[in-house]
Amino acid sequence: MSVVSSVCCYCGTGCGVLIEADAGVVTGVAGDPAHPANRGRLCTKGATLHLAAAAASGRARHPEFRRDRTSVRARAGWADALDHIAEKFRSVVAEHGPDAVAFYVSGQLTTEAYYVFNKLARGLVGTNNIDTNSRLCMSSAVAGYKATLGVDAPPGCYDDIEAAGTLFIAGSNTAYAHPILFRRIEAARRARPDLKLVVVDPRRTDTAAEADLHLAILPGTDVALFHAMLNVMLWEDRVDRAYIDAHTEGWTALRDLVRDYTPEKAAAICGVPAADIVTAARWFARGPTLSLYCQGLNQSTCGVDKNAALINLHLATAQIGKPGAAPLSLTGQPNAMGGREVGGMANLFSAHRELDNPEHRAEVARLWGVDALPGQPGKTAIEMFDAVRRGEIRALWIACTNPAQSLPDQARVREALAAAELVVLQDAYADTETAGFADVLLPAAAWGETDGTMTNSERRIARVRAAVPPPGEARADWEIVTDFARRLDPERGVRLFPYACAEDVFDEHRETTRGRDLDITGLSYARLDAGPQHWPFAEGAVEGRVRLYADGVYPTGSGRARFHAAPYRPVAEAIDARFPLHLNTGRLRDAWHGMSRTGRVARLFAHADAPRLAMHPRDLALRRLASGELVRVKSRRGEVVVEVEASEAVRPGQCFLPMHWGARFMSGLGANALTLPAFDAVSKQPELKHAAVQVARA
Ligand code: SF4
Repeated sequence: MSVVSSVCCYCGTGCGVLIEADAGVVTGVAGDPAHPANRGRLCTKGATLHLAAAAASGRARHPEFRRDRTSVRARAGWADALDHIAEKFRSVVAEHGPDAVAFYVSGQLTTEAYYVFNKLARGLVGTNNIDTNSRLCMSSAVAGYKATLGVDAPPGCYDDIEAAGTLFIAGSNTAYAHPILFRRIEAARRARPDLKLVVVDPRRTDTAAEADLHLAILPGTDVALFHAMLNVMLWEDRVDRAYIDAHTEGWTALRDLVRDYTPEKAAAICGVPAADIVTAARWFARGPTLSLYCQGLNQSTCGVDKNAALINLHLATAQIGKPGAAPLSLTGQPNAMGGREVGGMANLFSAHRELDNPEHRAEVARLWGVDALPGQPGKTAIEMFDAVRRGEIRALWIACTNPAQSLPDQARVREALAAAELVVLQDAYADTETAGFADVLLPAAAWGETDGTMTNSERRIARVRAAVPPPGEARADWEIVTDFARRLDPERGVRLFPYACAEDVFDEHRETTRGRDLDITGLSYARLDAGPQHWPFAEGAVEGRVRLYADGVYPTGSGRARFHAAPYRPVAEAIDARFPLHLNTGRLRDAWHGMSRTGRVARLFAHADAPRLAMHPRDLALRRLASGELVRVKSRRGEVVVEVEASEAVRPGQCFLPMHWGARFMSGLGANALTLPAFDAVSKQPELKHAAVQVARA
């Protein structure tokens, strides 16, 4: 038996795991006591990773493709499958230009796989049409950091949990979505009962139930709440004027804006008592305050404003750059951070460079050894699938994600997939909703079968390791892309993609970070073998920087952090007489994304064995419904039939549907049959967290 240390492939907590393997099969998993993120603990999902890994059903084992849509996919060799894609790509690019090709990748790829996909799209094909399911997850957090602090860098760390005086959790059911971090919060509160916990969430989640103060705001009203808290801080002289004067800019505009957001006015908007807003403001300002936030802020048409309004509070009270005080976005996926670091999103560029900066493009072109890189922004997730539907994008390569379940407004997404000339799916599983649309299926290695690195929510890079070989002919993601690049353009492909192993890719990525805010030139696989490290970790450093901005200097050009003054805006789709209920979507404790992995572990259905719509008993009574009945949930875009359950965790007028079950598991196309594709104008992140719906007996 062998034991290999790696990282859990589910949430962005980034827990270290020890994978036990025997005769090429994963036989067990344990928490890695040496890993600082989890110190040996695992949640129910992490503790069953070996069961998901050992489940043979549904795995993609051999390449398959079809030459036209009237055929079925047939098994093929790697050379034939990749040459077929290369021929199609060349023909599409020759006829319609490089922007007729697009790549839709995943925050579950290793950083190395992300890096080669990014280089393939921009450096070889010549398009910025590379986006990722992280668009659905963290793009508002990225834009929020950049708007206020200058770069996409979470300033805090997990150790701030124990150092904080107040934990302010907004839009995150941490107990379910990041369970090991929540265990750490519970332990910190047991050790220090004076550690306050404030939770902002429309639902009384398990996280909210633990709070000293739960602000059950109406959906989408976070900005009004945060502005009102700043209003209180101003009235009670709880802001840090010396810090504001020395380290920030834009204060006057924000101060003038929040004067209108009295606690009473915000109470009316948010549906919470004004006195609770005052209490939250006092606890926040007293500090040290660590904010933890996730999709409730991000998946919104004003997601950037929400992120920035929360960061405003940290800047105004100097709750940043010191132990226990920071805004810290919780990453939904295990490596959304790594993808951001390599610039694997349509509007980002390598190592936090800017796509619209000619000097930055020239730097990357020089590093990669290409003449020039495309300057026009690529299509982001929703725009990309709309462009496929319109026929502007003709060839789409999807990797390690399941857009036929996870994107909003599924009817539109499925029209797009059906309209594409070529859909390539590179995935470990052959039975996802998206696989049904694939013309080419490329079998990829899964967790425990591949080497690389990932970065967790606190900027900590860790090694991911293979414990067993992938099944059948499946290959590592970076390896598939490298092979394809060499076939697409034999001369340039071989030169630009010279990699023999994941470490070669890491070493090249590392060099692109030299001199950047996320400089990791001091890291290597050998260094990471000694333990995960925070970035930045520049050459010559003995350790990474655990907390950023301790000196009050920000990477904004002026050196000052920027306050962001934007008024509250309501959700994109208002409720009305026909669609009178607010629908909220989200995670359950023991399921992950579309359940391509967790859906194979029977034990993980003990917590919730089926999707259920949670509704307040009053709303059930109004409709003469009882728990356990089937209901039809309709929005302006689609409908699902699902069991309903009474729940006092949701307020009257609201309902909640878990996101995990798709068309394979329920009547209809899952929660995203109902959600809308409206997105934030800056981050382009869709408002997956809210839709107006009606509910009636099925
Ligand atoms: Fe995996 Fe997240 Fe659970 Fe840790 S908390 S074991 S990273 S799912």
